[in-house]
Amino acid sequence: MNEHEILAMYEDAGALLNGHFILSSGRHSARYLQSALVLMHIDNATALARELIGRIDAGDIDMVVSPAIGGLVIGQEVARLLHKPFIFTERKDGEMQLRRGFSIPEGARLLVVEDVITTGGSVRECMQVVREHGGVPVKVLAVVDRAPASGGRFDVPHETAITLDVETYDADACPLCREGLLPPIKPGSRGAA
Ligand SMILES: [Zn+2]
Repeated sequence: MNEHEILAMYEDAGALLNGHFILSSGRHSARYLQSALVLMHIDNATALARELIGRIDAGDIDMVVSPAIGGLVIGQEVARLLHKPFIFTERKDGEMQLRRGFSIPEGARLLVVEDVITTGGSVRECMQVVREHGGVPVKVLAVVDRAPASGGRFDVPHETAITLDVETYDADACPLCREGLLPPIKPGSRGAA
């Protein structure tokens, strides 16, 4: 699939939202990608996972890991197609952790999969947890990169299926807030669509 086809998939699913949004990074933006609306259709998830898998050497990977919640569906699908174990990290009391009895064999090589990357904070925290548990993150794959200009934000190679270079703002310096027309919403937690 090319970038145009993937964006069309997002548009068809009503997953490209316009308004005033608070991203998981805390930054504000006039556009939001609700990937859950794309990935709710398993054929979409499979197609996107295939697209991502085409960018790795599957023989170099022992396990797949994703930061919850965003990465869960695409990460699980990538792992399913690769026939590799899938685990996830999650925040508890604000801190990314490995829970639910998951463990990582010493020296295991992990592919990190996320749906949408903006600042990359969740992915970096996820990789930190992997390292603390003895694993080796080898590559980051994401469906969408919202801030491609901020490349080099990980210390392992990363690739995304599409880039969407939409401006994001500090909450303190957001022009949409200044206009005061629309209160910002947090689509992840309120399910805006
Ligand atoms: Zn704002």
